[in-house]
Amino acid sequence: MAGRTIVSTLNDRGRQLYSMARMALGMRNFTHTGQIGDGREAAARDYVLANATAGDPESVLVTIDRFARTRSMLVNVGDEKGLILDAAVRRAQPRLLLELGTYCGYSAVRSGRLLPAGARLVSVEFNAANADVARAIIAHAGLSDRVTVVVGTLGDGGKTVQKLITEHGFSSGSVEFVFLDHAKEAYLADLKTMLENGWLHPGTIVVADNVKVPGVPDYLAYMRREEGRTWRTVEHKTHVEYQSILKDLVLESEYLGE
Ligand code: MG
Repeated sequence: MAGRTIVSTLNDRGRQLYSMARMALGMRNFTHTGQIGDGREAAARDYVLANATAGDPESVLVTIDRFARTRSMLVNVGDEKGLILDAAVRRAQPRLLLELGTYCGYSAVRSGRLLPAGARLVSVEFNAANADVARAIIAHAGLSDRVTVVVGTLGDGGKTVQKLITEHGFSSGSVEFVFLDHAKEAYLADLKTMLENGWLHPGTIVVADNVKVPGVPDYLAYMRREEGRTWRTVEHKTHVEYQSILKDLVLESEYLGE
């Protein structure tokens, strides 16, 4: 592969810039389809199944991080921002966790490995091929008993919302933790859908990735406006996944109730 040959001659900063340029080309495709367009998601699954220890979530995470750094960059939350997510899940000890934007299942493995006994994570992904990749990776990590991937979006006219209610036990105040890492224009609308359905309770934690890059200005403005009223937010300054050049922002917001 020509790209691989070029990458192998670069230093670390050059590799990061090359990877970012290749990603920029793929992001247009990604916005519409949920995949970069070069088969890297399926390649990531094959790499994990071949190289990570079965039943070991830590091995699966390290293997995905290595794939993203040395083969093809993945739009996972990554290992740096992943520590912010880990700390929030550890503090919250959620019994029911909703994730929007499964992609390859990286953050589902991160959160799933930290859940207390009997807790569940439901992860919603709009691309069915990504959902299959994620299910294989989650199964390899040994977390299929507590992590479920649902194909859909909260903005599909009520279909997925109904599915979460009837098939996954979503009910008033049941959702204790939310991770938003999907279509950036949908963060605020989907949060409002959760509120309208009464799924959150005072104390529910919502973590939002990519608030600076690609950026979610309406969601950031909403959380700043609601600070101390219906939400209390910590803004974590960090970097875009798998590189140290671009800065990103992760929001960790506690719901205070209406
Ligand atoms: Mg992200």
